[in-house]
Amino acid sequence: METRVSEVLDRKGWTVHSIGPRQTVYEAIETMENLEIGALVVVDDEELAGIITERDYLKKIALEGRSSSETEVGTIMTDEVVAVGPNNTVRQCMTLMSEIRARHLPVLVDGDLRGLISIGDCVRQLTLDQEFEIQKLKEFIRSKYPA
Ligand code: AMP
Repeated sequence: METRVSEVLDRKGWTVHSIGPRQTVYEAIETMENLEIGALVVVDDEELAGIITERDYLKKIALEGRSSSETEVGTIMTDEVVAVGPNNTVRQCMTLMSEIRARHLPVLVDGDLRGLISIGDCVRQLTLDQEFEIQKLKEFIRSKYPA
């Protein structure tokens, strides 16, 4: 059985860190730094409006010479957000992230924003799954061929 997004969020927490589109990019990067995360979901009127990540800051503020304290989040966020559901597998998330070249996927339950899964969460989970699998195989081999 492949691990699903819901199991990762049960362990990590069903938390979403968000920001409004009219807040400044400075507030966004300050929040990301304080929380030690690389992305914030942008929520407007309780609706998912976009996503802003450290990559957006790098490309659209630092490299373009804009001021982070004078630019609104809504100006540089990505507004076509690709999201997943709790029943998607971690492997599907990895495939999706490499297809869209992004490292974060918001999680929607019945259309409501309920969590966010990152590439780091997926790599951690796949490593745990592989360790578990290896352990099971070792036990199987030992039971078949006792020393
Ligand atoms: P990231 O690799 O997550 O830092 O994001 C790289 C770029 O993709 C940035 O422009 C983000 O705004 C955008 N991005 C990140 N996650 C998503 C997502 N789930 N859907 C659409 N765009 C995204």
